[in-house]
Amino acid sequence: MQDHAGTHTEAGCCRHNGPGEALARAEAMCRARDLQFTRLRRDVLAVVASQARPLGAYDIAERLSGSGKRVAAVSVYRALDFLTENGLVHRIASRNAFVSCGHTHTDGAGLVFLICRNCGSIDETTSPEIEDQLGRTLAKVGFKPSSRILEVEGECGACLGKPAAG
Ligand SMILES: [Zn+2]
Ligand SMILES: [Zn+2]
Repeated sequence: MQDHAGTHTEAGCCRHNGPGEALARAEAMCRARDLQFTRLRRDVLAVVASQARPLGAYDIAERLSGSGKRVAAVSVYRALDFLTENGLVHRIASRNAFVSCGHTHTDGAGLVFLICRNCGSIDETTSPEIEDQLGRTLAKVGFKPSSRILEVEGECGACLGKPAAG
């Protein structure tokens, strides 16, 4: 797919507000859905939400393993499964890594991730236009998607704007 999104630099991203907001949102959601927000799930989300870049499960396990305790990657994966299923984090397939969701969108919404090869930042956006088109294309070939996540690699607006990058 061609990258038509390159010139879109809408500042809809609130991931940089840090983990506090993500944790508060997760807590409210778990209460509303009667789900357990365990200590580990909370810790994993806090680590992921503190980073603008995607983190792998082993990275997360390492960050949680300080001060004498050891957190196994398999436990982190289980917590990530929970967080992903509930839309609190998203898996970036091309990186096998995770970012916290900085938006409020419906479960199963079509998502577009803009991944900067230069600085490693990830911007999350939704595109009703792409979703419509994709829905039509999939219906035509009779394919039922389990997820509709697009990952577009390139250079972000900030990197393109740097004088040296020109
Ligand atoms: Zn999201
Ligand atoms: Zn960049």
